[in-house]
Amino acid sequence: MVKGIGALAAVAAAAGLALSAAGTAEAASKRTFISIGTGGPTGVYFVVGNTICRLVHKEAAEGRKKGRKHGIRCSAPSTGGSTYNIGQIAAGELDFGVAQSDWQYHSYNGSSDKVTHFKKLRAVFSVHPEPYHIIVGKDSGINSWADLKGKRFNIGNPGSGQRGTTEVLMKAYGTKVGDFKLASELTSTEQSKALCDGKIDGYGYTVGVPNAGVAVATDGCGARIINLAGMVEKKLVSENPFYAFATIPKGTYKSTAADVTTFGVMATFVTSADVSDQVVFEVTRAALENIADFRKLHPAFRNLDPKRMMKDGLSAPLHNGAAKYYKEKGLM
Ligand code: GLU
Repeated sequence: MVKGIGALAAVAAAAGLALSAAGTAEAASKRTFISIGTGGPTGVYFVVGNTICRLVHKEAAEGRKKGRKHGIRCSAPSTGGSTYNIGQIAAGELDFGVAQSDWQYHSYNGSSDKVTHFKKLRAVFSVHPEPYHIIVGKDSGINSWADLKGKRFNIGNPGSGQRGTTEVLMKAYGTKVGDFKLASELTSTEQSKALCDGKIDGYGYTVGVPNAGVAVATDGCGARIINLAGMVEKKLVSENPFYAFATIPKGTYKSTAADVTTFGVMATFVTSADVSDQVVFEVTRAALENIADFRKLHPAFRNLDPKRMMKDGLSAPLHNGAAKYYKEKGLM
């Protein structure tokens, strides 16, 4: 996080101008820059991060007579995804990030070598559900995990949540990388085009519903989403608090003629205990006081409910700044 004298204050001082409103001067001198790690530009995490920034800036309202003069400036760049975001928060390079509930759990508990073990990881709120999708080519003949043997399958880029969750599924099924004809590491933005271009036969993707990246494949070249609800998935769901069964309703995409049942996680918004209570309070407040606006910015956010967001899918402790907001609102 970068703190310092804002450019506005510096320029005004150099020009010998008096800043008219005391609040403006105060806010400018306390300007705080925060960054939120997201995912690929065609995914939903990118929209989550940029929605939160938009609401933070809306609330700031410097230059207006009313508004919260918190001085926070926010950016939400595209990143590799969940485990990348957590690693960068641990390294102090990002202040916040969006991450799958399974990777939040494993990071805090140190229960997986696929994510940085970070005891200072803190939960802020959860966002939308993310079913794990296996999306396959129209004529690939793939209808189950077993059918992926000998096929070209995109396991995802390192740093993405789906890469980790795909590896968990591979272990649960006893599938080795060599069982695929090709195990590619394409990003979420590359994979749908690769499928439609016939370069891969399928890909695994943990993502909110609906989303533009998946639609490129389902609506663009008739790709199908297969069911994943057998014994292996039942065991994963019953043994792990961060997994649940999920349905992708029929009609979501052009090729989803029937409901698809799979398992999934929650998208969660996380930070570090080292980020100040004041900053986390203001960011939480901006997102949740404006929940009606939040819901409108992506169809996957339609059902967001603060009462559930403050607990569903969260396994790391709540950050004190977020807890302060929930207590003030009588939610805790
Ligand atoms: N769940 C994916 C990940 O953790 C990202 C999905 C998205 O970008 O919406 O990498």
